[in-house]
Amino acid sequence: MSEFLDLEAQDGIRMPWNVIPGTRENALSCVVPISAIYTPLKQVPDIPVLPYSPLRCRMCRSILNPFSIVDYVAKIWVCPFCFQRNHFPQHYSSISESNLPAELFPQYTTVEYISTAETGPVVPPVFMFVVDTCMIEEEIGYLKSALAQVVELLPDNSLVGFITFGTYVQVHELGFGLLPKSYVFKGTKEVTKDEMLDQMCFFAGKRKPTTGVIEELQKDPWPVPADQRASRCTGAALSVAASLLGVCVPGSGARIMAFVGGPSTEGPGSIVSKSLLEPIRSHKDLDKDSAPLYDKAVKFYDQIAKQLVHQGHVLDVFACAVDQVGVAEMKVAIEKTGGIVVLVESFGHSVFKDSLLRIFQSSDNDLGLSFNGILEINCSKDVKIQGIIGPCASLEKKSPLSSDTVIGQGNTSAWKMCGLDKKTSLCLVYDIAKKDGSNTIGQAASGFDQEAAAAVMARLVSFKMETEVFNNSPDETAYFRMVLDREDVTNAVVMIQPSLISYSFQSGPEPVLLDVTAIAADKILLLDSYFTVVIFHGITIAQWRNAGYQDQQDHEVFAQLLKSPHEEADTIIRERFPVPRLVVCDQYGSQARFLLAKLNPSVTYNSDNSSHGGDVIFTDDVSFQVFMDHLMRLAVQ
Ligand SMILES: [Zn+2]
Repeated sequence: MSEFLDLEAQDGIRMPWNVIPGTRENALSCVVPISAIYTPLKQVPDIPVLPYSPLRCRMCRSILNPFSIVDYVAKIWVCPFCFQRNHFPQHYSSISESNLPAELFPQYTTVEYISTAETGPVVPPVFMFVVDTCMIEEEIGYLKSALAQVVELLPDNSLVGFITFGTYVQVHELGFGLLPKSYVFKGTKEVTKDEMLDQMCFFAGKRKPTTGVIEELQKDPWPVPADQRASRCTGAALSVAASLLGVCVPGSGARIMAFVGGPSTEGPGSIVSKSLLEPIRSHKDLDKDSAPLYDKAVKFYDQIAKQLVHQGHVLDVFACAVDQVGVAEMKVAIEKTGGIVVLVESFGHSVFKDSLLRIFQSSDNDLGLSFNGILEINCSKDVKIQGIIGPCASLEKKSPLSSDTVIGQGNTSAWKMCGLDKKTSLCLVYDIAKKDGSNTIGQAASGFDQEAAAAVMARLVSFKMETEVFNNSPDETAYFRMVLDREDVTNAVVMIQPSLISYSFQSGPEPVLLDVTAIAADKILLLDSYFTVVIFHGITIAQWRNAGYQDQQDHEVFAQLLKSPHEEADTIIRERFPVPRLVVCDQYGSQARFLLAKLNPSVTYNSDNSSHGGDVIFTDDVSFQVFMDHLMRLAVQ
């Protein structure tokens, strides 16, 4: 196990199979595919940084690496992938066995090159805020204060655009001080790039704005009849934003940050009609093909995705509403551009506020947002690549390396990552093409990384079973999948199998089984189910706490017992994005359901120990448990 973690720490990679099957036959017999979870920007301590451009093979463009065979006398290196012989350029003329360039050191399996020749000049980041105004005053208030805080944190050189939408799309021209200027577009129509040309120079000379335009933010003025939903043209607004960025800053790092407070009901991309009599589509409707707007909306967002990928821009969505807003339809554009998504019921919730701040705050745990990445893969000729499941888009560079079997973003050996951060993790799926060779099945088991296998299988299952219905709404399903598809192995495992830690006087914190028998009057439980972190006090602990024992002199041990799970929860919350929901509750309290819903009901109302937990209501989390059971069965085959 530790060897897998060492590999991850050094190269940002985890693989279910660390011994690659020798033949196609062997590979096909593995239920878990030959694959890897790769975190390209993983922070590697002491990573060698080379102040020059990488040396590439003139045939296949692979980069000189420790596996290349080097002839120091003739100054030639043989590419380990295509066996092409390459001459070293002049500035490598002094190399010898005792004078290796860093990229040939055997231990440097990952190095970083810094070269202005390849990256070009640094351009300021661009942020386009797209803000829904069809909300109750209270929600607008929450959003305003969150945005005002963010504007303060934006880098000084950043360019900022501001679009509001409701019945109409309004493009605000910033930087006019007392006389704010704005342009209005009809929400029912898509806006063409040509119409957008009128907005040219939108960003010219305008830097970070004052918070003026945010203070002016008002509820959409158009009246909404009692039996109707607000007229909300989310799709048109995002289309205007994408086109504006395309005209003004193509190819430079830019992100659209959309703040959406309800379902899209107007124009392209709408998900439901305005009549409240018509419910928002459910998984059942999607299965029965009775969600007429769904396919149309997905098609619209697929176009937006193509446009944004072409421009190199990102779509982030902050969906904060009790209703679904259409995250399921927007998923294609968010995921292909590497956008961030946060889903919660209100703009006043800490999950939204803290996540938004985390994006811009600089700290040890900042996201390290990066723009406009390109990932290229090269393999030996017997290995082919089927595709990538994760936040990226195929650049459709088909090569002999691309397998005929395609999964996720495939048919290519290069991918665009418009937006990525330090933690963004891709799942790379390979094929073994070799017909004959040594049988490696025997060795394969020793190199099997169970956690990596779970993470890979979770992505595969969620990719292949797009219509699988658990107890969620389509928006929630899309949300969980998008987060799962960008997380590393450790976080994916928490999503699949929540962890439960028990704190008591008798022993230090210890992991316990996800079962109601873990509950005891004199214990505190800490549940981490990725999106939610629960601190659960047994009834006796709760009573002592209410009596204030922790503040009394002779009860330091109790005070420490109360504090420990909070400290651990803080650590989890600090490192995770989106910021998880923290629930602090007591046994028999109403919030206790957050824990009970995750526990195995080995004890129920008709068993002897009913005082422990009572009967348990199962939620969507059943799916993870069932899924895990399937996986365990598959993995041991
Ligand atoms: Zn080559």
